[in-house]
Amino acid sequence: MLVLLLALLTVPAFAYEVQYAGKAGSHPLKWPGGEIRMSVSSSMLEESPNLRGSDRVLSAIRRAAERWEAAAGVRIEFSVSDIGSISPKARRGDGISLITIAQTPENLLLFSGEGSQAAAFTRIFYDSDGTITEADIVLNPFFLTSTDGTPGSFDLESTVTHELGHVLGLGHSRVLGATMFENSARNGLYGMPFTSVRTLSGDDVAGVRSIYGAPYGDKNCCSEIRGAMTSSSGEKNSTSFEVWAVDVPSGRVAASVLTDDQGRYAIGGLEPAEYAVYARKLGGNGTVIRVDEIDLEKKEVVEFGPRSSSEVVSFSGEGVGFNGQLAGIAVPVNAGSAYRVMVSGKGINRGVVVSVASDYFTVEDDSVETINFGGGLYALSFIVQVEPGAKEGNYSIVLTDEKGRSDWVLGGLTVESIKNPWMIRDF
Ligand SMILES: [Zn+2]
Repeated sequence: MLVLLLALLTVPAFAYEVQYAGKAGSHPLKWPGGEIRMSVSSSMLEESPNLRGSDRVLSAIRRAAERWEAAAGVRIEFSVSDIGSISPKARRGDGISLITIAQTPENLLLFSGEGSQAAAFTRIFYDSDGTITEADIVLNPFFLTSTDGTPGSFDLESTVTHELGHVLGLGHSRVLGATMFENSARNGLYGMPFTSVRTLSGDDVAGVRSIYGAPYGDKNCCSEIRGAMTSSSGEKNSTSFEVWAVDVPSGRVAASVLTDDQGRYAIGGLEPAEYAVYARKLGGNGTVIRVDEIDLEKKEVVEFGPRSSSEVVSFSGEGVGFNGQLAGIAVPVNAGSAYRVMVSGKGINRGVVVSVASDYFTVEDDSVETINFGGGLYALSFIVQVEPGAKEGNYSIVLTDEKGRSDWVLGGLTVESIKNPWMIRDF
């Protein structure tokens, strides 16, 4: 019997802030021409108690950058610098975009107090028109970071891939399996060497393409779905909604965004495909509603009419778990195998049915068990079969009550090429 660990195995491990002394505008943050020059601090190239495998740091950083370069029209160049400190909080930085792990007072300050659990921190400087002028990354000097998979350490390549997303102007994603999700796992979570994502998910790719477009002027990129969510009274208000597009044939999460203060959303960076759009009110147990569906053409922009939803559910899906560990990190699975997975949340004990929003997945009915952690926190443990043809990407776990109201754990399962050896069986 595996011991169920309720300790927080993953925390919001990534922190970032944007620095501009003026009024925040509506411009997206962007590097002019998609060209970025960064300096790797020499502190990143020396073996130290908090950095293992330093000889592979430069190649790991290069690979992280190449993922973003392959996804969007950006170029990131690196050189080495003796500078160790991040630019302090101010109107302007020193103009040098740095990646560092040096134990300087300025860097250590970032990880005292609120940011103490963060694996890394990124500070971005930008102008009034949204032009990014500098972005500095600090890896937490109090934690162990490695390039060699050391158990309990943060994987450098995963961490840098995430932070480079901030450097490019992206915020945090709400898709559990996305690189830009705010949580990060140390090596060893779920009994797997690398649980943190190094690859970019559909949501990451759509996000960066919505700013920079596709690389080499890809003719298929990019289409956009726009619309608005309103409160139940029909007025646009400050209630935030989470809105996401699902690729209909596969069920994969294609992209997720939040509404602005007018209730509007724009899901950009999409390839032509058939999409279903869903929405959920944030903070208040709103049920997931299906907004609309569209067969999107190349470089097409469609606008959906306003939608509202006031129905609430008495439960919430919050985390997932695997191998006896509950966490806020997507469970990696392989096509052609079956796994026992957990989904956790408030009030999901009675009459709540678990499924996956994709025909590639089947939840075995008689495998579902309820686990009560006390304090209203429950988990459903279930065996899920992943079809041999399941494509790589993020899939959502759906919890539905007897009235058909549902909550989703967005991207809680991720089909990976990396082997997850802990299957119940192959087929
Ligand atoms: Zn972050």
